[in-house]
Amino acid sequence: SATPSAANEAVGKRKATTLLPQTRVTKRQALLNQRRALPIASVESELVNHVKKNETLVVIGETGSGKTTQLPQFLHSAGFCKGGMMVAITQPRRVAAITVATRVAEEMGVEVGQEVGYSIRFEDCTSPSTQLKYMTDGMLLREALLDPLLSRYSLVVIDEAHERTIHTDVLFGLLKGVQKRRQAASTATKSSKKKAATTGVALKDLQNLLTTSKTPLEKKNSALKLVIHLEEIPGDILLFLTGQEEIESMERLLKERASHLSPKVPKLLVVPIYAALPSEQQMRVFQPAPDGTRKVILATNIAETSLTIPGIRYVIDPGLVKARAYNPRTGVESLEVVPVSKAQARQRSGRAGRERPGKCFRLYTEDLYRKLEDSTVPEIKRCNLANVVLQLKAFGIDDVLGFDFMDKPSRIAIVKSLEHLYSLGALTDEGKLSDPIGTRMARFPLEPMYAKAMLISCEMGCSEEMLATVSMMSVDSVFYAPRDKLQEANNARNRFISADGDHITLINVLRHYIQEAEEAGAGAGAGEAEDTSSNSNSNENKKVFKRIRSWCTANFINARSLKRAVDIQKQIRGYVEGMGLTIISCGDDMLSFRRCLAASFFLNAARRQLDGTYRALASGQSVAIHPSSVLFGQKPDCVVFNELVRTNRSYIRNITRVDSLWLPELAPHYYAAQALNTPCQS
Ligand code: ADP
Ligand code: MG
Repeated sequence: SATPSAANEAVGKRKATTLLPQTRVTKRQALLNQRRALPIASVESELVNHVKKNETLVVIGETGSGKTTQLPQFLHSAGFCKGGMMVAITQPRRVAAITVATRVAEEMGVEVGQEVGYSIRFEDCTSPSTQLKYMTDGMLLREALLDPLLSRYSLVVIDEAHERTIHTDVLFGLLKGVQKRRQAASTATKSSKKKAATTGVALKDLQNLLTTSKTPLEKKNSALKLVIHLEEIPGDILLFLTGQEEIESMERLLKERASHLSPKVPKLLVVPIYAALPSEQQMRVFQPAPDGTRKVILATNIAETSLTIPGIRYVIDPGLVKARAYNPRTGVESLEVVPVSKAQARQRSGRAGRERPGKCFRLYTEDLYRKLEDSTVPEIKRCNLANVVLQLKAFGIDDVLGFDFMDKPSRIAIVKSLEHLYSLGALTDEGKLSDPIGTRMARFPLEPMYAKAMLISCEMGCSEEMLATVSMMSVDSVFYAPRDKLQEANNARNRFISADGDHITLINVLRHYIQEAEEAGAGAGAGEAEDTSSNSNSNENKKVFKRIRSWCTANFINARSLKRAVDIQKQIRGYVEGMGLTIISCGDDMLSFRRCLAASFFLNAARRQLDGTYRALASGQSVAIHPSSVLFGQKPDCVVFNELVRTNRSYIRNITRVDSLWLPELAPHYYAAQALNTPCQS
């Protein structure tokens, strides 16, 4: 399944030269040649015939063989997009949907958003002319709510089905129903089996590193040393890390070290890729490194299967992944760094040497490898089901326990999520979707608790502030604290701090940012400054954007995260207004807002115990205030929080102090008054 790498490089380098008609033709030709060389090209008519003859089809092929990019184009050529019909191709991840759609548009010689488009949460890049629509599996689920027959699609392709995300699993169940109701139509379901492309890959044991790298920190140091000292044959390096924070810190470390390297060593071009990264920056991983430079890609498990990055010769796999975990008994959901499964480890090693011989360095012993799980547990078995159950209810499926799940979640997990939704007021006593609360909640592209918070805030007169909160909770941390400038970063954060906690602190950041953008002349849509910079008044926009950038830098704010928060804010505002509700601000009345937080997040309340630790009231779990919180070290009596992170202990993050008496007052159905009146005990 080797890809002609010369063609790949030709494509990448083309970007720098001017677009003469001649070179454009050459480029199209190069792309075409590349397409024809893919393994899937030889079975085009066979595949199309199978799709025509069968209701459901499973397609299995090696990573990089052309399933994602080619099959939809085959279907397009075969006439599946005639008469205004579309082909949907679902992806588990946003990044994949964007990059693949962009690639396919390029191959078809059209602009992305036209015949080939993508749709992800908070971003719709499609038009009435869209025929091939790449979208996250979650987005297709939402569309199914509005159009239960999915009548605009002639075909649905479920890509990366083996990943078994919660949305993919639910889609399978739903699509079976859709198929029954659309006997006449045909649906192709495809799945790719886990199959590591091990051709030419040698697993190299680095005994010294293996035996010493046990903790995440040691692994990080080993990975760093490897990247710096990997001399061998030239070739790009792919390093798997667990998330944005880890990637950013590794990026800084590598850039710092690389600047001290001897001029004889090839330069390092460090490119990060993770879900929250803006798409223009994600595209950088596909550009070849300049001559004499070695590209080092720092990636989350995004690069395991959904993205095929050409030119990787070395893979470094520390063997860890950040995964959702859920304890149905306590109802506590958290993100945890856990060992990868054997299948994931194989898939990672398969990313090396796809075009030439390559190597994978696993930063763990063979003994440890043998102890890994064979494959990853489907997400549906390890996460909070409240959102899925809410969507199913909105879909008219009341018997959630009887739903045709591919892998049934445990009964207790389903019951817990029903209880959760009931306590939020989304379900009636009979277990049906309540109206208007439940139906409105289901319409928001938000976790049920946040959706409910938006509705409550409209009644409590602080929806502008809740909108800001929900938007800021939907992005990664906006505070940026480089290790060498910790003091300065802290001083900067102090300008925004509210003694009441993180939510109001974040609101202050957003308020200042929007004010700055308005003063700079960008209007409230500060987030658009970058996008519109190609307009006729681009100089003006560039100036505005530069000013906002420097404001962010001066305040140690992550401009990317904040821009995304502003985008999300705009989207959710649209949903709220679309329901005929109005967004109102409480101004400086933060007491009202904190009461609203208590009314919204009562399920995430915690109280201080005699020994100074905290107890989460709903689960009884012992938790501590995360050091990143502005309330760290303050010991408030009672708080509500939005996030639980588990490392060596359980931390709560994004916290606001509330009065414990508000809980029985504002959530009487959940908190019996007397239980909270008694002094806290251990
Ligand atoms: P599969 O889905 O079977 O894993 P893909 O359709 O994603 O395979 O990829 C087919 C080939 O197209 C890959 O081998 C890769 O070389 C090339 N390719 C895919 N996306 C890009 C891209 N964004 N830039 C350059 N090449 C790409
Ligand atoms: Mg694919």
